[in-house]
Amino acid sequence: MKTRAAVCRAFGEPLSIETIEITEPGPGEVLVRMAACAICHSDIFYMDGAWGGELPAVYGHEAAGVVEAVGPGVTRLKPGDHVVATLIRNCGFCPACAEGAPVFCEEVFPLDKATPLHDGAGKPVVHGLRTGAFAEHIVVDASQAVLIPRDVKLDSAALIACGVLTGLGAVVNTANVKAGSNAVVIGCGGVGLNAIQGARLAGCDPIIAIDVEPGKIAAAREFGATHTINARGENVEGRVKELTGGRKADWVFVTVGVKGVAEQAVSLMKRNGATVLVGMPPSGVAATIDPGWLAADGQKILGSKMGSARPMTDVPKIVALYLDGRLKLDELITGRYPLEKINEAVASSRSGAALRNVIVF
Ligand SMILES: [Zn+2]
Ligand SMILES: [Zn+2]
Repeated sequence: MKTRAAVCRAFGEPLSIETIEITEPGPGEVLVRMAACAICHSDIFYMDGAWGGELPAVYGHEAAGVVEAVGPGVTRLKPGDHVVATLIRNCGFCPACAEGAPVFCEEVFPLDKATPLHDGAGKPVVHGLRTGAFAEHIVVDASQAVLIPRDVKLDSAALIACGVLTGLGAVVNTANVKAGSNAVVIGCGGVGLNAIQGARLAGCDPIIAIDVEPGKIAAAREFGATHTINARGENVEGRVKELTGGRKADWVFVTVGVKGVAEQAVSLMKRNGATVLVGMPPSGVAATIDPGWLAADGQKILGSKMGSARPMTDVPKIVALYLDGRLKLDELITGRYPLEKINEAVASSRSGAALRNVIVF
């Protein structure tokens, strides 16, 4: 069938709105009509060529919509179901899945071998971030589609698929912080604000948010930061020390993909503290740390991929917290744009001014 999509034809250039061909869902797959797809910084990194990959491609992976058709063997979902669509394609049975880490699933799926997308000339189009959700329809493995109740607005639900899973998950899954720990969150965008609300839900105190954009710093307060630091102008290490009784941070969450910030984070950990790296810099960027200090101070650096998410249990928990008024989603949306205006939405996200811009269909 045909669908409309925002296609990346050249890195760093505007996306082009095209009619493309999308295959019917195969065994174990679902066709979802998109309702909303937010723009994540990972999409922008791919569009800019920072992580390589083939072109043309359709990106977009923070998505929600309505199931339109299911392939053979799919019994868990049916047409009309509302779903959050994530990039976490997982089999449930490989060693990674079996130990509760579906983000590292080892299975190779038919969708990994052949893209479901082709352009008007019949040329294959990359199924970006295993989702390709800057399009009116997506075909994904059923493991990527998580059923949600119909009373959750789909534009808000879309944010769960990456920003919320990742930010909240870094705190409650990867770090598994204890109530009463202190937390520093560097970067107050879509992922950082969710790390902040994860720290609030987990009972962290103080929760210290760091950014350089006044608007994001104000948002951090609303999402649960007890203290904020503007890294442009304030002495970050000094302020963190002052707010933590001179010890510095139990946990530092780095939600931006910037080398210097990762290096700074390490300097903000207390002895026996930990830094959780969530944001991913362009490929090939190396940060400098002093292993001697790390060993002498018994510190840890942890990577957190997609917040160590297990979508089938994490998404329903997040939805329940949202419906209970304990987790903010609606407030994360800065702007809503039709697919035709995606380049404006991307420019706004790129400028750093937006929390999350969402393409609505
Ligand atoms: Zn993302
Ligand atoms: Zn697996």
